[in-house]
Amino acid sequence: MGETGVAGMGFEPVIGLEVHAQLLTRSKIFCGCSTRFGARPNSNTCPVCLGLPGALPVLNREAVAMAVKAGLALGCRINRHSVFARKNYFYPDLPKGYQISQYDRPLASGGAVEIPVAAGETSTGQTEYRRERFRIHRIHLEDDAGKSIHIPGDDTHVNLNRTGVPLIEIVTEADFRSPQEAFDFLTYLRKVLLYLGVCDGNMEEGSLRCDANVSLRPAGDERFGTKTEIKNLNSFRFLRKALDYEIRRQARVLEEGRRVEQETRLWDEDSQSTLTMRGKEEAHDYRYFPEPDLLPVVISEEWMNELEASLPELPEARRARFVSEFGLDDETALILTQAREFADYFEETLKHCNGPAKVANWMVGDLTRDLKRDGRSIVDCPVSPESLARLVDLIDSGAISGRIAKDVFAEMYASRRAPDGIVQERGLRQISSTGELDAIVEAVLAANPDKVEAFRGGKEGLLGFFVGQIMRQTKGQANPQLANRLLMERLKERP
Ligand code: ADP
Ligand code: ZN
Ligand code: MG
Repeated sequence: MGETGVAGMGFEPVIGLEVHAQLLTRSKIFCGCSTRFGARPNSNTCPVCLGLPGALPVLNREAVAMAVKAGLALGCRINRHSVFARKNYFYPDLPKGYQISQYDRPLASGGAVEIPVAAGETSTGQTEYRRERFRIHRIHLEDDAGKSIHIPGDDTHVNLNRTGVPLIEIVTEADFRSPQEAFDFLTYLRKVLLYLGVCDGNMEEGSLRCDANVSLRPAGDERFGTKTEIKNLNSFRFLRKALDYEIRRQARVLEEGRRVEQETRLWDEDSQSTLTMRGKEEAHDYRYFPEPDLLPVVISEEWMNELEASLPELPEARRARFVSEFGLDDETALILTQAREFADYFEETLKHCNGPAKVANWMVGDLTRDLKRDGRSIVDCPVSPESLARLVDLIDSGAISGRIAKDVFAEMYASRRAPDGIVQERGLRQISSTGELDAIVEAVLAANPDKVEAFRGGKEGLLGFFVGQIMRQTKGQANPQLANRLLMERLKERP
């Protein structure tokens, strides 16, 4: 990875993130307009979000509730008294001429999360994790701008449906020391927002946007170097690629004895590089001042408690519990808690059967593979938790073999049926009766006298051949342990 090379040159990367998340409220932050994505351009607008003179904003309580939940989930202090401010700038997609944001008194500050970050691979190819703590500087509420659409060879069109959609901006401390750490944090942050149901986390549609600040310093130094800010990172992949590129670029600049310019850069996917967008001298003076049309946001003790009580178990806590309560390994627990609904499915299945490791295996294996193939989510999984539990029971009790269970699962998935009917109908029960299997063993041996002789002459490797024959004859339904035992008994018999 990029940073290894950089470390080799004696520089350490320092990274901080600024993340904008669109809140999943039904209406906008300061008016009653719908927030629905994909509506006819400029149809979800009113005098307030169009910034017409005299229109007064009214704060959406649901947006505040969601922002408070995000703050609590990220370990922040919720400031009981926060203030909206006008951030003034001119841009075609900003009809008011200012954004309503929070400046010196944000809704939440001083948070931290402790999460696993990928630290390498074990010899068996499993990802290894170490725990790291990352601090959140602040979280504030603001309204979104509209969207300019530049049509090549034509005009620029402006869609103001997004104007006034509630956002939270989450600003981290510059605590990340590698693109991997920034990546793992953003992954976790997205997961938390999804668990809370406050953001849909869709980076391609812009509901989650990330700017990355990065600088280098000589390894061992306390002081930060000059940073650049990279915008336009609308996927996790771009975040990693842009940081890798920017770290290498800055290392080259520093090695040549030049200085890194403080500037805003853009990730350019076409050239696979970051490009200068604007320098420091073009930096904005936003002339912040308190928003005169809105009262300070005051959050009562009672409401805070109510919101705190409504928080779900968070992904990291749930992952740790899955390890301690169910004895799962770190990586499996991480996969199972990736999405709240996926973890719910796992726990629901365990209400109906024993064997967390087995259930996890099915979910991480066949179930995920089929869902991925069909582009389905776990919420509309054709196999119910009860059915999966029943399948695990059928294997446990020896009613079907593990091999046959794979086919049964495929059929369950395709037909939405419970396993019992499928096993019954297709006659898939495992042959575990000694009498029944013994007859088949005998027939196989009788049909292969030369191989029997060879086995008895010392070619014990032929056992596999006999087992294979039995499986063929029984279409895979023979209980393998029993087949092995009976074969050995017969073969060891002196003729
Ligand atoms: P600005 O005033 O340029 O917006 P801030 O102090 O508000 O800078 O910080 C914005 C983000 O940049 C934060 O996430 C912060 O942690 C990060 N950051 C600040 N200084 C540095 C630096 N020297 N190197 C890397 N990241 C930094
Ligand atoms: Zn409106
Ligand atoms: Mg800033």
